[in-house]
Amino acid sequence: MRTAPPVVLVFGGSDPTGGAGLPADILAIASMGCHPAPVVTAITAQDTTGIKEFMSLPPELVIAQARAILEDMPVAALKTGMMGNSAIASAIASIADDYPDIPLIVDPVASSGRGDPLSEEPLDEALRVLLLPRALLLTPNSEEARRLAPDADTLDACAQELLSLGSEYVLITGTHERTPQVHHRLYGNKRLLDTFTFERLPQTYHGSGCTLAAACAAVLAHGLDPANAITQALHYTWSTLKHGYRLGMGQHIPDRL
Ligand code: PLP
Repeated sequence: MRTAPPVVLVFGGSDPTGGAGLPADILAIASMGCHPAPVVTAITAQDTTGIKEFMSLPPELVIAQARAILEDMPVAALKTGMMGNSAIASAIASIADDYPDIPLIVDPVASSGRGDPLSEEPLDEALRVLLLPRALLLTPNSEEARRLAPDADTLDACAQELLSLGSEYVLITGTHERTPQVHHRLYGNKRLLDTFTFERLPQTYHGSGCTLAAACAAVLAHGLDPANAITQALHYTWSTLKHGYRLGMGQHIPDRL
C-alpha cells in the first residue's frame, strides 16, 4: 500500500475560476505531494476580472467541517485564507487553539489583489489578537503588512510588530512594491532572516498569494524546517506564475498542474 501523504487542512473561500481560494490551495497542495482537506468558509461568485458577490457560511458549519476532519485524519498543517467575517476567524482560532502542535499558516486575506473585499468587516483585530499568537507563519503582502501594523513606518517595523504579536515567522511579499525586481522578506527571531529576489513578471495573477501560503503549508507538512520550507515554496510559486496561463478576460492563472 502507498504511504499516505501528509494532510493539509485549509480554511478558505470557493472560487469558480479555479484560480484563487480553495481551488488554488487544492492544486498547490496536491502538486506538492500532500493531501488537501478543504474547509469552506465562504462561497464566492467571481471571474478573472473581479468578485461579483460572496456569502459566508455560518461559523458553526465551518467548525463542524474542520472538526470532522481533525477527528478523522492526521492533519499535518493548517492554513487560513478567506474567512469572510470575524465570527469565522474566531471559530478558526478556537479550533487551532485545540490543536497547538499542528503548524498554522495564516494568509491574512481581506480583499483580492484587485481590491474587491473578501470579508464583510475588517478582520485586522481578529487576526492580530486571535490568530497571530498561534501562527507559525504569517504571509502578508506588503499592503496587508502595513494594514495589520498601522503604526509602523517601514516594512521592517511592520514585521517586528507582527512578530511581537506572536507569529514565529513573517514572510512579507514584495509584489505590490514599485521596485524593478520583486523582493520577498522573511523575518523571525526578532530580525530579518533572508531576502528573496525574483524577476518581476509582466502579468498580474489570480491566486498567487493563495498558492504561496498553500505551498508553504504543504512543505511544512512534509516536515521541512521553516526557512527551507519557505524558500522551496517561494521558488515553486514563482515557477507557477512564470508558466501561468490566461483563460478569461482578466488576470492570468498560476500553473500548478
Ligand atoms: N477569491 C478567494 C476565495 C480568495 O481567497 C482570494 C485570495 O485569497 C481571491 C479570490 C483573490 O485572489 P487574488 O488576490 O490573487 O486575485
